[in-house]
This record gives sequence, C-alpha cells and structure tokens, in this order.
Amino acid sequence: MAKKLVVGNWKLNGSLAANGALLGACGALAGVDMAVCVPFPYLADTALRLNGMALGAQSVSEFQSGAYTGEVSAEMLADLGCQFVIVGHSERRALFGEDDAIVGSKAAAALRAGLTPIICVGESLGEREAGQAMEVVGRQLAAVLKAVGAQGLKQSVVAYEPVWAIGTGRAASTDEAQEVHAGIRRWIAEQGIPSDKVRLLYGGSVKPDNAQPLFAMPDIDGGLIGGASLSAQDFMAICRAAADADKSH
Ligand code: PEP
Repeated sequence: MAKKLVVGNWKLNGSLAANGALLGACGALAGVDMAVCVPFPYLADTALRLNGMALGAQSVSEFQSGAYTGEVSAEMLADLGCQFVIVGHSERRALFGEDDAIVGSKAAAALRAGLTPIICVGESLGEREAGQAMEVVGRQLAAVLKAVGAQGLKQSVVAYEPVWAIGTGRAASTDEAQEVHAGIRRWIAEQGIPSDKVRLLYGGSVKPDNAQPLFAMPDIDGGLIGGASLSAQDFMAICRAAADADKSH
C-alpha cells in the first residue's frame, strides 16, 4: 500500500487572507501524502501556496462543457492543477440532491480528466442502528462501479464517512470504522479489483487526539478531515499521526 493520505476539506470556509495564513503554516511532511480541497474561487491562489501538498476541489460537474451555467468541469479543475476532487460528500447528497447515479457520473467525469475522485460513502444514524451500514455503502459503491468500471474504481480513493460522525464531534470508534473499512476492502476485492491498491480514508470528526488510533487500524489508509483542517496546528498534527502510523506498520 502507498503512504497514508490525509485530505483537508475546507467546505464553505475561507478568504484570501485566512487561506494565506492557514497555508503558510501547513506543508508536506515526509511519510504521508497530503492534500487540501478548497472552494473553487480559491483554487488558483491555493495552487501557489501548497508547500508540497496536493490540490483538490470539493465537487465537480458531471458535464464537460456547454450550457450548464454555474458548473465547473473536471477539465477546468485539472487545468488549475487539481489532482483530487471529492465526489458524493454527504452534504452534497443531503443538501443538493446528488443521488447515487449523479455521484457515479461525477466520478466518471473526474477520471476522464485525469483527476482522482475521492468517493464519499457512508450511512446515516438510522441506517447504522438498523444494521444497514455495509448494505448502504455497498449500494453507493455499486453505483460508482457501474459508472466508472473496475479500472476506474481502482484509480479512485474511497472515503468512508458515516453521516452521524461528520461535524458532530462523535467520531466512529476504531472498531466501528475498521469493520466497515474491512467490508469495503472485501467488497472491492469481490469486484475483481486488487483492493490493496485502493486507498480507504476515514472521515468524521477526526481530531489530533483520535487520529493516531484510527490510522493504526489495518484497513484505514488515511483521513478526510473537515473542521480540523481549518486549523494548521490540528491539520499538521493529524498528518503527523498518519506519518507515524505508517512507520509503525
Ligand atoms: C467532512 O466534511 O468530510 C468531515 C469529515 O468533516 P469533520 O471532520 O468536520 O467531521
């Protein structure tokens, strides 16, 4: 498996001044791959301040070009230096009507432009309590597989983000996260894809104090970090935990 990958998702936050201060205190560390996914208007400026980290966006249009006012294509993201794009974040699914089919189309658009989609999957609290976590995640992944094929999924990153853990301060326990990650790994292998080639990130209230044990789990290959990625100190501490976890394996 490649190095662990830690990705910051700034969501709808930032300004040129605030981003400059945040990025000025962040930068690549040995032993871990790092990326920041920033709002569209800040991509170009962030590209100049990465200090060795990779650049990503938080969403992408399923369309390539034409009469789609307000959309941003994967090709445009690649043009601006993006390597990653988040697709299917639970906030996009819940608030902006992105269903499984749209998420599949967006992942396909990203791959077409040479980007690595970070495909977010995860169950709601009700689904978890009904024992349906893996069933939901399998359904979400199957829609992406249908759109991108085995080759496309192999080139993607999957982020397991239980909806009940995002922005709530209640991260999944190491066992809860590991169980679903192992299930995802198995599911990918069942599709005939070398599952150790697909990085599986955990996301949901990762903070400096819980990052290390999560990253030490055998099927957790890094993290997708929301709130804590807005603090340089916290983000860098989480990235250091990932680098350390990798060394101890
Ligand atoms: C996210 O938005 O992808 C996320 C994991 O958020 P947080 O870390 O704030 O829970």
